[in-house]
Amino acid sequence: MSVNYAAGLSPYPDKGVCGLPEKFDSPEELKAKVETLAEMIKESQYFVVHSGAGISTSTGIPDFRGPKGVWTLEERGESPHFETTFEDARPSLTHMALLGLQRAGYLKYLISQNVDGLHVRSGFPRDLLSELHGNMFVEECEKCGRQYVREKVIGVMGLKPTGRYCEVVRSRGLRACRGKLISTILDWEDALPDRDLNRAEDASRRADLALTLGTSLQIKPSGDLPLITKRKGGKVAIVNLQPTKHDKHAHLRIHGYVDEVMKPLLDLLGLEIPKWEGPTICESSTAPLDSTTVIKPVTAQRKVKKAVKEERKRDASELENDKSTEEREAVSVKREKLELKEEK
Ligand SMILES: [Zn+2]
Repeated sequence: MSVNYAAGLSPYPDKGVCGLPEKFDSPEELKAKVETLAEMIKESQYFVVHSGAGISTSTGIPDFRGPKGVWTLEERGESPHFETTFEDARPSLTHMALLGLQRAGYLKYLISQNVDGLHVRSGFPRDLLSELHGNMFVEECEKCGRQYVREKVIGVMGLKPTGRYCEVVRSRGLRACRGKLISTILDWEDALPDRDLNRAEDASRRADLALTLGTSLQIKPSGDLPLITKRKGGKVAIVNLQPTKHDKHAHLRIHGYVDEVMKPLLDLLGLEIPKWEGPTICESSTAPLDSTTVIKPVTAQRKVKKAVKEERKRDASELENDKSTEEREAVSVKREKLELKEEK
């Protein structure tokens, strides 16, 4: 399926201000501002990022209100230009830098308005991510709420049935849930997903620093969340080329490409930008890193369990080879205990 997400939505008259001219800070100004941002991040206790379509334009997916944005062109009766498909799009430097910030412990929570699935496919832990407008790769069970992250885009929008059914097994494996799976993509009038919105609001309340990247902050309620942080005494930093709706509330405004801000930012923090090795799903921030490269979460969990079990067996047998009979017995007791634990 193509990236024609916008064409799948209903017609809607009020798409906000589109096509405003872009502004660029001079290289010196940009450098000084990124240094300030690095200090703000170092001083923060609970740092939250809000991302918008502007962080995906460098991957070939158009934004909405930029000079070549979907709605900007629509106003002129023109069609947007897509340089990729959602499946082929690779996470941008900014997507990977956010993963680096999370792994280093700086970034505590990520709130996105993007539906392109790139945060999830970059391997960003899903338990630290709110996708407020849905995800093209995710379908959800209407009945039990279980989400399925797929390898290909779902192809249905506006929370409509996808034609598939939930496979969650209930009552001791005798029956599957069989609830209808629906798209997670919101249409204009749809309410935001409760769980993602609640977690985003909680994180915004807790945050002492909110950084917005590539969003004009025009869509409610997503665009207003950084104001919660400000009301609670936190700081707001904005990186965007065009003016945003909340520029006057920002402690720091950076006018530059997000990728050109994130690269020196991570350098200043002494962090490497993780390399992307293909679509990666990470369900939990507490899962081991090497367990994240699988597409379907159900299979992923099973594989992790299996991998851990095998690793323990391997460790135990290596130990056994090296040790005396006496020690061998101790190891086998330990292994039995491990296996007992596993069964529980
Ligand atoms: Zn279900």
